This record gives sequence, C-alpha cells and structure tokens, in this order.
Amino acid sequence: MKIYNTLTQKLEEIKPRKDNKINMFVCGPTVYDHAHIGHARTYVFFDMLVKYLQYKKYKVFFLMNITDIDDKLIARAKQTETTEKELADIHIKSFFEDMKELHVKVTKYAKATDFIPQIIKQVKILLEKGYAYETPNGIYYDITKFEDYGNLSKQPLNELKVHRIEPDLTKRNIADFSLWKRQKPGEPAWQSPFGKGRPGWHIEDTAIAMHYFGEQYDLHGGGIDLMFPHHEAEIAQAEAITGKKPYVKYWIHPTHLIVEGRKMSKSLGNFITIKKALEEFPAEALRIMFIQTHYKKELNYSKETIETTRAAYERLKSFQERLNEIDSRKYDKGLKIIIGKEKKKILTALDNNFDTPKAFTILMTLIKRINGMIEKNKIGKKNTIEITKFLNEINTFFNILPEEKKAKITKEIKELVKEREKARKKKDFAKADSIRDKLKEKGILMEDTPKGSKIRAL
Ligand SMILES: [Zn+2]
Repeated sequence: MKIYNTLTQKLEEIKPRKDNKINMFVCGPTVYDHAHIGHARTYVFFDMLVKYLQYKKYKVFFLMNITDIDDKLIARAKQTETTEKELADIHIKSFFEDMKELHVKVTKYAKATDFIPQIIKQVKILLEKGYAYETPNGIYYDITKFEDYGNLSKQPLNELKVHRIEPDLTKRNIADFSLWKRQKPGEPAWQSPFGKGRPGWHIEDTAIAMHYFGEQYDLHGGGIDLMFPHHEAEIAQAEAITGKKPYVKYWIHPTHLIVEGRKMSKSLGNFITIKKALEEFPAEALRIMFIQTHYKKELNYSKETIETTRAAYERLKSFQERLNEIDSRKYDKGLKIIIGKEKKKILTALDNNFDTPKAFTILMTLIKRINGMIEKNKIGKKNTIEITKFLNEINTFFNILPEEKKAKITKEIKELVKEREKARKKKDFAKADSIRDKLKEKGILMEDTPKGSKIRAL
C-alpha cells in the first residue's frame, strides 16, 4: 500500500525494513487531563492503519509512549493539590478505558518515568558527542550542530518558529531544546550524572523507541501539530546518537480535528472528551465519523457531522438486522461476484493513501444495492452468509459494525414482559406503555413486530 510520507513529501509504497515486520511508534498523551476527541481521531486512525496492515499479513508492533512527567503535569498537580504520580495514574487509567472503548489496540504502552536510565544514557551520549551542552538550568541540544534540523517540517533554520516559550537566557540559540531539566524546588526529580532533575519531552520518545526497536525503525506517527518541534527534535537526537539515517523511514501525520469550525480549547468551552463523545454515540459510530473524512483533511466535529455519522451508523445497523431476518432458500448467484468486485475497489482505495471516505462510500453504495435486492425478494439465507462474511472482513480493520448486544434476561424482566403481553392482549395500552418504559430503564428495549414482541438490549 502507498502512504504519504511527510519526510519525503511523497506517496510511497510501504516496504518494511525487515521481512514483513513493521515497527510503529505513535506519540501518546500527556496524562494531566482526560483525552479528547482530537486524540481519538489520531489513535483510531493509527489503529485502523495497523489493523489494515495486519489484514495484509504484516506483523505490526504498535508502540505508544505515555508522558507521565512534564511541565503541564507539574502545574496541574500544584493546582489540584495532588501529586504528579496520582494525577498521572488517574488519567492513565481513564486513557486506557477510552482506548478500550474505541477498540484501539496498542501492542505496548510505555511510560516515560519507566525509562529514566535509557533517557540518561542518551543525554550522556549527546553531551559526549558535542551535540548537547550544560547550563545552570540543565542540558540543552544545540540545534546548529545538527545539519538536517528543520528537514522534516521543511523550515529553514533561520525562520524556525519557537513553539514552546522557554524564557531561558542560558541557551545558546533560542530554538535549542531541553534534554534534561534541573530540579526546581518542590518538583519531582531523578538522580543523574548531570544533577537531580527530569527529562525533557522529546528525549523520552527516542529512548523508548530505541529500547524496543533499535537504532532505526519503520513508521512514526502523531498529530500534525507534533511535527515541529517534537518530531524534528526526535530525529536530531536519534541521528546524532547513532550516526544513522534515516532514523524512521515513514513519518505519518494525520490532520487536526476542529469543533464547529473552531480550534478545540478549554477557554472556548468546546473541549470534548472521548468519554463525552461516547455518551453521544457508540464507538463504532465515532469510528465511522473518522472514516468519513480523509486523515489528511481537517475534520469538523459539528452538528452536521454528527447527524451524517448517526445516519450512516443507523443504515448499517438496520441492514444487519434485515439480513438476520432473511430465511428464504433463494440464491442469487451474481451477488457473490458483485461483492468480490466491490471488495477489490475498497482495498484499492485503502491502498492509495488509506482513502477511507472512498472505501466507505463504496461499501454504503453496495449496501444500498443489496437493500434493493432484498426489497425485490431476490436473495436468501445463503446470500446473507456471504454478505456477513464480507462485512466481517471489512470490520477486522474498520470496527464499525454495531455490536449486537445480548439482553440479559432476569426473572424480574421475564415477569414484566409477560405482564406487558397480557396488558396488550387486553388492549390496555397505557399499562403496556408504562411497563415498556420500566423495561427501558432496565436497559431492555421492546419491539413490537407482526410476529410478536422482540426483546433487545439498549
Ligand atoms: Zn512524542
């Protein structure tokens, strides 16, 4: 498959460095707060990409770091009168819940504080090789020592924007970045040969990635806002340490998510956590939303987007239900061929820079076509088995099929259902409706069909 590589600014065929093994690192969250839907977009995208590569028989190691020590964590801990560790633990737990709910499967999560020795070792090498220098505040990377600095984000060195304001006058160049921060009073710190302190943000990624993958690896991903200075700094660190280029073969940067046309931020009051979005609709629907916008395009989380998503999700759901109800012996020979052709088109779209909106449109058009066949009573049970097999195959990487929840039927619920049936027979609809509401509160949905009442989990 081909993917857009930020480093070369080209669509490139993915060819692993070794055999069919792909080592992929994705920048994880800084755990000072709950994760938001922007995170969800990024991580669901990489999850789908990994699952698609696995579908294509690659062996993928999906590694994600967790930044559990940094300035924001320290500030928030102070504000909320907790320790950094307590704060991090709460939000790590919350993040794992979110990823599980969203069906994001990461091979290994690695916390920065578990890699302090590896980080120290890398800082030491950078000092020894002359790429880093010491000031009273800590250790810094001298960006003028690394010729390719700015190469990933294509910024000429003299025009580099400085994103993080570090009013540290001890630095040689304004864009030099911190490798090790010397402890300030009240801050958590670790022993090191350069004094007690804590790691800078960029060095944790190279220390963790090299620990698992070695000096060079296949794929690095992260939101587009991380390209500079974060990823630029990673390359500068890694290639200075090893002397090998390129540190990472493919760099993949999905684009932003905005809310109602505006950047998401706490101050604008449009900050939406993953948990809040999952109250709005199930994970499968949220994944459909991400699929419907190409990962290189800005996604606008708006009322309109929510409605389109919900409609697509409902269409899939009712299609599945319709399939389940077919039990005729009819068989349409041509349908299998049609499915085969459309599947090929879907895979071709995904092979071309993971064009999920195109793949999804092909899928939904096919469903519309099959719905037409169902209406004309053309297909039977054997066809539905073929269709389900195809849907499940697509679902191995998309994870968008509504999960059929099984209702847990307790004795109490059984009694209520019986009572409701009685009321219905007596045409006491007021009573029947009140029981129906009671059941709904218990998570049970009653559906009245011509064949009788059906019980479903909400
Ligand atoms: Zn990172």
